[in-house]
Amino acid sequence: MNIILMGPPGCGKGTQAQRLQDRYGMIQLSTGDMLRAAVAAGTEIGKQAKAIMDRGDLVSDEVVVGIIVDRIQEADVQAKGFILDGFPRTVAQAKKLDQVLVEKGIGIDHIIELTVDEAALFARIENRAKESGGDVRADDNAETLKKRIMVYRDQTAPILPYYDGAGRLEKVDGMASIEDVTQQLEEILDRRAEAARRA
Ligand code: ADP
Repeated sequence: MNIILMGPPGCGKGTQAQRLQDRYGMIQLSTGDMLRAAVAAGTEIGKQAKAIMDRGDLVSDEVVVGIIVDRIQEADVQAKGFILDGFPRTVAQAKKLDQVLVEKGIGIDHIIELTVDEAALFARIENRAKESGGDVRADDNAETLKKRIMVYRDQTAPILPYYDGAGRLEKVDGMASIEDVTQQLEEILDRRAEAARRA
C-alpha cells in the first residue's frame, strides 16, 4: 500500500507516519529526515540544503525529487510500500511525482490531509521545541516556524486542490488526539483492505 500524508509543519504527519509504518509495514519516507541525514553526513546535498532548511525555505524541487524518485524504486520500498511524509511540497513536485508513478506503474492508494487550525499549530511547535530540551532542531524556533507555515500556505497548500480536484484527497481531523488521529487513519486504510477482501 502506498500513501501520501499531507499537512502543515507541526500537524503530526511524522508521528502518524511512524505509527502507520509500525502497524502496516509500509516504509516512512520523510524528505525532512533524509535531508537532515544528508546534512549530518556532510554530503554535497547536505551542504547545500543546510542553510535553506535553517531559515525555513524549501530545498530545490530537483534535489528532493531526485532523492524520492531513487528511493521509491528500491527493492524494500517496492516490496513493502511507502508513506510519503513531507513530499510533495510544491505543485511541481506533485506533478513530477505523478509522472514518475505513471511511468513506473506505481499506484497511490490514499492521499490523506491532516487538517489543523493554524493558531494551534504555533502552540504545538512551541511545545515541541520546549519538550525536546537541548536537542532542538535548528528550524524549530518560533520565527522559523512562522516562516515554514507561510511557505506551506504559499507553496504547499496549492497541491491540495490539485489532488482534491481529481477526487483523490481524503481528510482527517488533525486536531484530535494522537490516538484518535491514528484511529481515523486506520479506519481509512482498513476500509480499503476490507473492500479488497470482499471483492
Ligand atoms: P516539518 O514538516 O516539521 O516542517 P520536515 O522535517 O518535513 O519539517 O522538513 C524540514 C525542512 O526540510 C523543510 O523546512 C525544508 O527546508 C526541507 N524539506 C523537506 N521536505 C522538502 C521537500 N519536499 N521540498 C523541499 N524542501 C523540503
